[in-house]
Amino acid sequence: MADEFPFEISPMFEGERIRKEGMHVELAGPKSKGFELVRAADMNDVEDGRFTLIGPDLSDMEEGSRYPFAMIYKIAGELVETDLESIVERRNHEFQNYIQGMMHLNQRDDVWIRVGKEAVSKGLNSFEHIAKAVMMLFKNELPFIEKVEAIYITDMSEIEKEIDNTRAVYKARDERTRGLHDEDVDTFYGCTLCASFAPTNVCVVTPDRISLCGAINWFDGRAAAKVDPEGPQFAIPKGELIDDASGEYSGVNEFAKKLSSGEYDRIKLHSFFEFPHTSCGCFEVVGFYIPEVDGIGWVDRDFAGTAPNGLQFSTMAGQTGGGKQVVGFLGIGVNYFRSPKFIQSDGGWNRVVWMPRMLKEKIFQDIPEDIRAKIATEDDAKDIESLKSFLTAKNHPILERWVEEEAEEEAEEEVPAKAQPATQRGFAAPQMMQMPANFMPSMPMMGGGSGGVRIILKNAKVTVEKITILKED
Ligand code: SF4
Repeated sequence: MADEFPFEISPMFEGERIRKEGMHVELAGPKSKGFELVRAADMNDVEDGRFTLIGPDLSDMEEGSRYPFAMIYKIAGELVETDLESIVERRNHEFQNYIQGMMHLNQRDDVWIRVGKEAVSKGLNSFEHIAKAVMMLFKNELPFIEKVEAIYITDMSEIEKEIDNTRAVYKARDERTRGLHDEDVDTFYGCTLCASFAPTNVCVVTPDRISLCGAINWFDGRAAAKVDPEGPQFAIPKGELIDDASGEYSGVNEFAKKLSSGEYDRIKLHSFFEFPHTSCGCFEVVGFYIPEVDGIGWVDRDFAGTAPNGLQFSTMAGQTGGGKQVVGFLGIGVNYFRSPKFIQSDGGWNRVVWMPRMLKEKIFQDIPEDIRAKIATEDDAKDIESLKSFLTAKNHPILERWVEEEAEEEAEEEVPAKAQPATQRGFAAPQMMQMPANFMPSMPMMGGGSGGVRIILKNAKVTVEKITILKED
């Protein structure tokens, strides 16, 4: 089908990773600027198949360098409506990854693309090849698109001119779900676009829970399912409400079982700890449990530093992704912070103790006023000790949980020592938590204070050849 292109096009290239050594150029990404945007347009305003490039082409780019990069697609068709823009935009991610030698990560103004050296050596020397391949796939795979044209920009000043308008479009899309809630609808929407690299992922999009990639809201899911019911976005009848606080529905559970091939049969949409939503790897933000303060921190892709637990975003993303229910970590879209049901079964905002300053500024108006000043950033807390001091000084509501924990500990101390369970004391993880095997070493627990020896293991590997257990006299 793609003889006209100097590369193979196939879903089998999704998941292809292009490392720094193998890349010809890097486009957009965390160290540059860029975006992707799809706009619905009138039939007369779209010249089908047309490609425009503003700025240098691939052949003018220096090997091993980084460039800004934006992609704008105008689509038209009788069934094309504004609600479909996000869905088509998300398919740009998928279709660019079908191209051998291309790697497209993230979405919206977080896009990060690499073109491999090998692809360039085989003749991929112009963005026109890429744009034409993507336009061909748009029309083949999304028959409601009758006309499409592409404008790619590699000139920084042009991108800077466009980026504010583009962000305003994203914002307007996100605002649409504000007045609509899970209880107002009978149907949620599922998405399987990420199933190729996270086969057990179950993505459920509801009015109160935007997709974890941040690119698909409930209206987008509805529009996509309407025009292409056999496509990757589909309706999930809600079924019975099982638990309001955690957002558990029989219809979601049925789909969870089906989509994960039986691996999961329960998903609680607004829970952090118990049967949480799966995380494929496209999340914009990772939440991480901090057992030492019994609170939850959040870190986004743009934060290059280290969170108070000693880990960076990339390390935690590695723990979180893969389409699993990883208790203790949760991937979300930024807009979920704006949901009135945000992790409501685990305390909502009262459980949030830390986030990077930039992320906090981005969502500042959406944080309940009484807690805004009580959430630490990297300026307030760089490690667990400084986080504890900050939370104490600010009288963060999490302190109430510490008092409860202490009361429980005191009650336990009254039980004779031999009757105590052999668990470490301190701020224990909630009872239902089953940490992954590699979870605990990177999150040292606080010592108990009952004497003896405290051992803190940080990113340690412990090999034990033999254990001898002796009966106590
Ligand atoms: S993260 Fe979820 S909603 Fe977004 S593209 Fe992947 S499967 Fe679809």
